[in-house]
Amino acid sequence: MLQSQDFRHFQRLQAAANNKPPMCLHEKGDAVQALQRALMDLGYPLPHSSVLGVADGCYSHDTYNAVRCFQLDHQLACDGIAECLTLHALDRAIDEKWGETSMSDLLTRESVVKCSHGGSVVMPAPRFGPFLTADDFYAVAGCGFQTPCRKVKWIISNPGFRYAGRNTLNYSSVGVCVSAFGVPTGPVVIMA
Ligand SMILES: [Zn+2]
Repeated sequence: MLQSQDFRHFQRLQAAANNKPPMCLHEKGDAVQALQRALMDLGYPLPHSSVLGVADGCYSHDTYNAVRCFQLDHQLACDGIAECLTLHALDRAIDEKWGETSMSDLLTRESVVKCSHGGSVVMPAPRFGPFLTADDFYAVAGCGFQTPCRKVKWIISNPGFRYAGRNTLNYSSVGVCVSAFGVPTGPVVIMA
């Protein structure tokens, strides 16, 4: 059984982990996308199969090569096929990676974030699954600065934890506020 957050809900991946049948070149779908996401999160880029960090769900040569690189790094048979041993090794590797970031470090809609002049950063409804990401829109309300802060630009979100290929925000994230004209007005302050 595959155990990681990224894999365990996919019946197709669970079947492939039992070689019934393995996943290989030309397969398409959600399970391939989950595989691609794990590969990218583990540092195996898919330049021809992803746009802005979102994988396309096609087991193309790009994915085949990334699987081969992963296999090479993990002393597995280097055939580019996502079979039992490869999928279990990926599952363990991605599980260890998830373990690096505690879920309690992640920002939520209830987190209190301010501009440096006391205005409030309006936490949006997450668009990409349950977590807030650097790609969501963050408006600033109630700033009293002479050129008021209007929105937030995240500079460092959180490279350690991604959801669907996107960077989530946590308490170590760094952002700046900008005015209506895009001029930086001060740092973002994460209060709680
Ligand atoms: Zn402000």
